[in-house]
Amino acid sequence: MKPVDRHLADILATVRPLAPLEVEIEAALGAVLAEDVASPVPLPPFDNSAMDGYAVRAGDVAAVPVTLPVIGDVAAGDDGLNALGPGLVTRIMTGAPLPAGADAVVPVEWTDGGTARVRIDRPAPPGNAIRRAGEDVRAGDVVLREGARIGPAQIGILAGVGRRRVLVRPRPRVVVLSTGAELSEPGTPLGAGHIWESNSFMLAAAVREAGAEGFRAGSVTDDPKEFMDTLDAQLLRADAVITSGGVSMGAYEPVKEALSPLGTVTFEKVAMQPGMPQGFGVVGPDRVPIFTLPGNPVSSFVSFVLFVKPALRAMQGLPAGPPATVRATVTGPVRSPAGKRSYLRAVLTGETVAPVTGQGSHQLAALAAANALIVVPEDETSLPEGAEVEVIPL
Ligand code: AMP
Ligand code: MG
Repeated sequence: MKPVDRHLADILATVRPLAPLEVEIEAALGAVLAEDVASPVPLPPFDNSAMDGYAVRAGDVAAVPVTLPVIGDVAAGDDGLNALGPGLVTRIMTGAPLPAGADAVVPVEWTDGGTARVRIDRPAPPGNAIRRAGEDVRAGDVVLREGARIGPAQIGILAGVGRRRVLVRPRPRVVVLSTGAELSEPGTPLGAGHIWESNSFMLAAAVREAGAEGFRAGSVTDDPKEFMDTLDAQLLRADAVITSGGVSMGAYEPVKEALSPLGTVTFEKVAMQPGMPQGFGVVGPDRVPIFTLPGNPVSSFVSFVLFVKPALRAMQGLPAGPPATVRATVTGPVRSPAGKRSYLRAVLTGETVAPVTGQGSHQLAALAAANALIVVPEDETSLPEGAEVEVIPL
């Protein structure tokens, strides 16, 4: 059997980062930056008031109370060309440019709020309530680096440095297709011998959580031709494809039957539990990566975490490798088949980890109750309560 790490290495050696694309910043959410972004100007661009109050010369308000004439107003958006002489003050609003000559702002709360004359009750030291030009960003500073994931705050700073468009690696478009004659759409009645189809919903959601776009292509029966026709139709819009089911050792394995003759997809046994039967390769003229995951829901989920998620990171130009792990103490004994790496569903609380009841690869409710996977190495067949284990937080 093929080691888990080698299977991931093969996948990462095949997938390529998507080509960068210039998009409007509104469309950049979730994408990964493909350029360094610098600010053309300092931010703030000019000295301005941090509060509503009065721009003063600090020396004029050193001894209080003091009453001074108010020569006018400076509002946000004013051009900042006015100057302040000694012994005079001007009302100033938050974000308004500091008049030349002023070196402090007295908050309105420290005054009687006067408009012709104002009584100031507290001294304001030089620099008080002033936001200096460049104190957030200096001109030419890189504010975001290539490889940064673009969230709302990153879109904010892109706009804040005046950018309208930005070069990104787009979110990979991933089509998820389930196979199985026994599958019924949720929301429709359950026929005899049927189960409700869950993998495509779960995997499409996992794709989205991984920063890509997940599209459910629904499910097809176990007819290889129907599978291939659906796959062909979906390839147009896919940067990657995930299928579930139809890759094990039985009869009626449409994915294996349809893709094996192409010679570009390899079906292998990977030394892991759950999720032993795995397939990976490329399909179509654009050589779109395809992950053919086993059908058991827990197997397909664990396969996604171990293989697809790192591949989606690589496609976004991000560093990619095995999932991050933490160490924890297991609260009860665990078992694992010899020669396979096990991924046991578990609840991680602080530094302890408790396996959940129901470790079958069909036991989706147990997966839904878990928040972590305990990793048991290939050469261990059991670990006692209290053992230190490696854990993948989900
Ligand atoms: P297969 O890999 O096709 O042999 O399927 C293995 C097991 O997983 C079978 O019990 C299937 O019924 C189940 N299974 C396959 N695909 C799905 C799916 N999309 N949703 C829920 N269960 C599935
Ligand atoms: Mg099947």
